Amino acid sequence: MNQPATSDVWYFPKDGLTELIRVLQEDGFDVIGPTVDQGAIVYASIQSAEDLPKGLTDIQEAGSYRLEKRNDESLFGYVVGPHSWKKFLFPPISVVAAADRIEGHWEFSTPEEPQRPFAFLGVRACELAAIRVQDQVFLKGPYVDPIYQRRRESAFLIAVNCTQAASTCFCTSMKTGPRCQSGYDLGLTELKDGFLLEIGSERGQQLSRSLSLRPTTAAEMAEGDLRRQQAADQIHRTLETDGLPNLLKQNLRSSHWDDVGRRCLSCTNCTMVCPTCFCSSVTEVADLNGDHINRERRWDSCFNPEFSYMHSGIARDSIPSRYRQWMTHKLSSWHDQFGTSGCVGCGRCITWCPTGIDLTVEVLAIREAAATVESVDRGTNHE
Ligand code: SF4
Ligand code: SF4
Repeated sequence: MNQPATSDVWYFPKDGLTELIRVLQEDGFDVIGPTVDQGAIVYASIQSAEDLPKGLTDIQEAGSYRLEKRNDESLFGYVVGPHSWKKFLFPPISVVAAADRIEGHWEFSTPEEPQRPFAFLGVRACELAAIRVQDQVFLKGPYVDPIYQRRRESAFLIAVNCTQAASTCFCTSMKTGPRCQSGYDLGLTELKDGFLLEIGSERGQQLSRSLSLRPTTAAEMAEGDLRRQQAADQIHRTLETDGLPNLLKQNLRSSHWDDVGRRCLSCTNCTMVCPTCFCSSVTEVADLNGDHINRERRWDSCFNPEFSYMHSGIARDSIPSRYRQWMTHKLSSWHDQFGTSGCVGCGRCITWCPTGIDLTVEVLAIREAAATVESVDRGTNHE
């Protein structure tokens, strides 16, 4: 057999996934992939292809998510669930320092993370984009986050192209999907009986040499194109991004923030499920004897009132101000800070908002309200 080259597309049958997982495990990786837990598809450690959700799909709407049976045995026939890879690269709780009282004095340490490198199986195009965004936040600024860096640099990414989309997806508006373009080691497209495999990196190329691959046929390539196009055709939700950063900056006093504030519970769900949100706070946790203290970094949220606590009180003490902070950061000031949007169009915040608040609809409302004010102003000036 020919040796796989980066530009080639290869084929392996469905049971080849078992071989891929085994090779990754033999190389020392903790393979993380989609699994079913409590009625949702979530990412967890998997031992074999048997652990993947077989013949299931997800039905997502604003404020609603459910799994349904498909009429085939697809292993990746759904989109993204409440988890993202963020929870492995930027864990919800990390011990960043510890202190132990030993014979009357304190010893400080930085705990080592006992850890096998991760192999992520099933990374979607919007999730590759989210990882790129978090790379920007944690690795490319003046301060590098050592926990993220260790986990990210050793991670092996196996992307899976979406062959269907949810009603909440809008990756096409954010130019992040549905096709996986770069940033992966291996890229898969699921066909009826097997997978197309694309090689995205040197590491991917090296690993692919241990797999039983064969060149693709024209029919398999055409089937892959058709399935990927099906996902693109199913995306109907849009977010108009032209001029959006300025639009939000110029409408900080829009009455629409009060409107959304009446519906928002400030529950933090949107920030927890968002694959790019990165806010955290640090807290010290002592044991009952007071002999051991962990300094823990925990995910936090701009929807928590205390998150904006400063010397003289809470800076954002109303829900409208917190929603406005979240949305204007994501879609406007994130560009100033990191040179990119903070939203990749995955739709999670729409699905997992208990009151079904949809940022694409809220942006449209602000745009329309601003246009109305502008046209009234023009009319007034004309008179
Ligand atoms: S927008 Fe929705 S998910 Fe986010 S804090 Fe408000 S109620 Fe919770
Ligand atoms: S803001 Fe919402 S749609 Fe955008 S990346 Fe975060 S969860 Fe996904």
